[in-house]
Parts: sequence; structure tokens; C-alpha cells
Amino acid sequence: MRRIGIMGGTFNPVHTGHLMLAEWARSEVGLEEVWLLPAGMPYMKPPGQLLPGSERLYMTKLAAAGNRGLRCLDIEVCRTGDTYSYETLEQLNLDHPDCRFYFIVGADCLFTMENWRHPERLFAGCTVIAASRGDIPMDRLEEKRVDLERRYGGEIVLLPFLNLSISSTMIRERVRTGLSVRYMVPDKVLEYMEEKGFYREKEQ
Ligand code: ATP
Ligand code: MG
Repeated sequence: MRRIGIMGGTFNPVHTGHLMLAEWARSEVGLEEVWLLPAGMPYMKPPGQLLPGSERLYMTKLAAAGNRGLRCLDIEVCRTGDTYSYETLEQLNLDHPDCRFYFIVGADCLFTMENWRHPERLFAGCTVIAASRGDIPMDRLEEKRVDLERRYGGEIVLLPFLNLSISSTMIRERVRTGLSVRYMVPDKVLEYMEEKGFYREKEQ
């Protein structure tokens, strides 16, 4: 079986933390490729400052270009209506019977997953790789891991990761207030964001 990592997210915009996590998981977990899946309409996020799926997809493609271990998929962006990860995993398993999927999330997601639609169906379709993020201590992650496994079945593997405080929220906020985000997003993404004037404060 091919071992494939899946990384969902809003990618509004994609940043170096996403790319470092994808590459880190790829080598630590021993995955052939990691597929980045920008979400269509993330029903759990407020729409303010959310760029259209096509633009988030385009930036994620720019970011993944040049790394043969990374691919960017448009299946969630192309789907109409809300994005549910369990549906994505079920579709991927149907379309790729030769692949075993590893769903990579940051630690923050470990604490929200139980509110996602049909967590048991998500857990049934993959192994979840939960990477540490920010200052959530490892023993709290371990507690949550045991709790989720007990309630939903499936398998969760904790992945110690670099402590990177970078987030898309921080990037949007910095651009809005005119601060540099160079090196926080790949150069090609930065160029495109600047060309399009993304996340800048709208003039009154
Ligand atoms: P936002 O601030 O808009 O929520 P984000 O930076 O959290 O953006 P998302 O698109 O929400 O990015 O996240 C996609 C995935 O990447 C999630 O699983 C998230 O936990 C993970 N992730 C993002 N940034 C980091 C980071 N610095 N360290 C570890 N995981 C991260
Ligand atoms: Mg987030």
C-alpha cells in the first residue's frame, strides 16, 4: 500500500508552518507523499477575510510546486456546500484503493475534531497524525488521544513537531497592518498576494 499523508485546512493563506509540518510528517512517519487539500467552505470559520477557494488553491499550488513529495488537490474546493473531512476521506479511499491515508492535523484540531461531522467515519478511514502545536503540553495531547480513540475507535499517533507560532491569522493581521510576512510564506505566494492586494485593509 502507498502511504499518503492528507493535510486539510483553510490555507488562508498557506504558510511555511503548513509546509514544514507536511515535510516533517512525510519524513518522520515515512510517507510517500503528502497531499494538501484546501477546504471549500469551512463551515466552522467566520467568512470575514476568507478568500475564494480558487485563490487559496492557487496559492497552495504555488507553495507545493518544486517539492515532488507534495501535491495539492482541488477536491474540497470543487465540492459545493460545506466541507466535511469524513466525506473527503471516504472519497479518497474509494478513488485510491492502493493507498493508506494518514490524516495530518495540528494539535489544536485534536481538540475540535469531536465537533466535526461524523468523527467515527473520519477515524475509520485513516490514521490520524496529530502534531504538537504551540504550547499545548504533550501530556494533554496524550490524554485527548486516549479519549478520542476510546470514543471513536481508530488510531491516533502523536507527532512531536517544532514549536512554530506561525498561523494564517497572524499573517492576515500582519498584512492588514502593513507588516512584512516575507519568509513566512513562500516567495511565490508573497508575490501573488502582493499583486492581488490580498488581506490588505480596504480603503474607505
Ligand atoms: P488560521 O489561523 O486561519 O486558523 P492556521 O494557521 O491554523 O490558520 P489552517 O489552515 O487552519 O492554518 O490549518 C491547517 C492545518 O495546519 C491544521 O491542522 C493546523 O493545526 C495545522 N497548522 C497550521 N499551522 C501550524 C503550526 N504552526 N504548527 C502546527 N500545525 C499547524
Ligand atoms: Mg487554524
